[in-house]
Amino acid sequence: MAKIVIIGGSFGGLTAAFELKRLLGNKADVTLLCDVDQFVFVPSLPWISMGWRKPEDITLPLEKILTPKGIKFIHEEATGVDADKSKVITKTQEIPYDYLVIASGPALGFSSVPGLGPEGGYTECIFTLEQAIKTNKSWNKFLEKPGPVVIGAVQGVSCFGPAYEYAFEVDTELRKRKLRHKVPMTFVTSEPYIGHFGIGGLRTSRRMMEDEFADREIKVIANQTVEEFVPDEVRLKDGIKLPFKIAMFAPPMAGVKAVFHLGNPKGFIPVDANYRHKNYKNIFSVGVAIVIAPPEQTPVPTGVPKTGFMTEHMAKDAAKSIAADILGKPSPETEPVGALCIMDMGNKAALMKAYPVLPPRRVAELKVGINYKWAKQAFEKYYLWKIKRGLTQLP
Ligand SMILES: Cc1cc2nc3c(=O)[nH]c(=O)nc-3n(C[C@H](O)[C@H](O)[C@H](O)COP(=O)(O)OP(=O)(O)OC[C@H]3O[C@@H](n4cnc5c(N)ncnc54)[C@H](O)[C@@H]3O)c2cc1C
Repeated sequence: MAKIVIIGGSFGGLTAAFELKRLLGNKADVTLLCDVDQFVFVPSLPWISMGWRKPEDITLPLEKILTPKGIKFIHEEATGVDADKSKVITKTQEIPYDYLVIASGPALGFSSVPGLGPEGGYTECIFTLEQAIKTNKSWNKFLEKPGPVVIGAVQGVSCFGPAYEYAFEVDTELRKRKLRHKVPMTFVTSEPYIGHFGIGGLRTSRRMMEDEFADREIKVIANQTVEEFVPDEVRLKDGIKLPFKIAMFAPPMAGVKAVFHLGNPKGFIPVDANYRHKNYKNIFSVGVAIVIAPPEQTPVPTGVPKTGFMTEHMAKDAAKSIAADILGKPSPETEPVGALCIMDMGNKAALMKAYPVLPPRRVAELKVGINYKWAKQAFEKYYLWKIKRGLTQLP
């Protein structure tokens, strides 16, 4: 029986685990290793930060959903991988594997800008459950005595969506509470223009986002490098200083420590079209952990976002490739990854479709409406229902 070890219990790791078990049944001994014991529906973290969701609404216990499917769960952090000896290393054990799937997501690079981040810095972040809970506490305090808000993405960021979502949600909530007139809002981004999203824009995204920010009276400063954050102020490279009562900035990402040595200079794993490591035939990687080269060089560095939809697509392809290997079949043909994403805008949402993710594209769509907000709310419930039952073969 082939021993498959998966690092990470989120979109990539869970999808790979369920698909491998479904494709291989008793021919595979599948173990999933994760440093946290719950699945977190990350796309709803901005709603946690706004107080629109509670943690129990968007989390599931990993052991309970994996064990019934015959997948072993180990609640431990991988501290390293010995790729030559095919072993995952933790504090208490060495786990040998025939195949390894790295779905460990990102390490968040708060140290890239002085004062960035919630630990030892002055800005909020909504990229993990703990951070989103903390941001909600700061938000409730802010509402008692509102003031200027600065939201954005520093240089080197790839995941821009949450910063946009947070800006629109803050604007919507402040209007609902009739507080908006007390709050000057500024959006600062490393993108060359708003609506670039790290993917070179999507059809009319630039014009649409410029109109949206103008309609909401949120000042935009694009193509910017942040020099530093001090307790109540953002200082930009070109000398602009922006005071804030609350600031939320997306951080740049890198590969996690345990697998950093298997990656490029940022620790992201280089893979082929089947998500197989370029140098290690029995290592696969999916999701945020992999390298995707940017479509263009931007004046201020930016990266390409890797969304949940893209991650699931990659995990399914990686599982098919591993299964083919084990069953002695040739590697399957794969299609380039596409993106389908709904960006929340507080009182409505934007549907974004890109196939392939980077231009030139065969399909590119961007539509805004209240119906997409309802679709996003319904999708959250559907996805949690689906993953709880291990039904990753469903769309
Ligand atoms: C705030 C926010 C909102 C988003 N909204 C959307 C959206 O609306 N739609 C969309 O499609 N995408 C969205 N995304 C992107 C989406 O969340 C990611 O694409 C997705 O989470 C990537 O999945 P992953 O499995 O690659 O990595 P992650 O979700 O980052 O999971 C990595 C897993 O590995 C574990 N891990 C890390 N290191 C180790 C280790 N050393 N040992 C063991 N376990 C480890 C982590 O605990 C985690 O369980 C959003 C992202 C953020 C941050």
